[in-house]
Amino acid sequence: MTVHSILQLGDPELRIVAQPIDPADIATVEVQTLIDDLIETMRDASGAGLAATQIGIHRRVVVMEVTSNPRYPYKPPLPLTVAINPEIEQFDDEMVEINEGCLSVPLRGNVLRNVNIRVRFLDRNGVVHEEVKRGLTAGTWQHECDHLDGQLITDRADPTSLATWDEYERHHRDAFVERIMEFVERVGS
Ligand code: ZN
Repeated sequence: MTVHSILQLGDPELRIVAQPIDPADIATVEVQTLIDDLIETMRDASGAGLAATQIGIHRRVVVMEVTSNPRYPYKPPLPLTVAINPEIEQFDDEMVEINEGCLSVPLRGNVLRNVNIRVRFLDRNGVVHEEVKRGLTAGTWQHECDHLDGQLITDRADPTSLATWDEYERHHRDAFVERIMEFVERVGS
């Protein structure tokens, strides 16, 4: 397994739309190694998720995991998830504003996300899943799937909310954490 360097804001490769993986190729060493490298790189960087796009591999694979994460202490746990060719369907209009960070962006900002989504994806064994995701977990799915379409939080964020991590912690963290903990309590994820 290899820890890759993570592409940073301004790298044109972050804007490339990733290609689907042929389900017949999921069992190949190439795809399984890509998955292992994504997990290793995400954990090394203490991220909550990572898309293949962020290591310059333009295939539709994302990994997500939230244990107890000092970058995101308010995030509910999310067991290690590998999603190949993920698709997101919105089925209502309930939205929440989430202050998001990204391993490819040195800023945080407020992004409007759907609270309830249906996701369809293949896991690393090629098994099809169709599941409903809610709350901050749904937000993480939307963030990671945006990467596969070449989109970043800076595209979606309220521009007046953008802040460096230091200034987020100094001026915005306490109010956001208080608001989002109430939301997590209500939504349950
Ligand atoms: Zn990101």
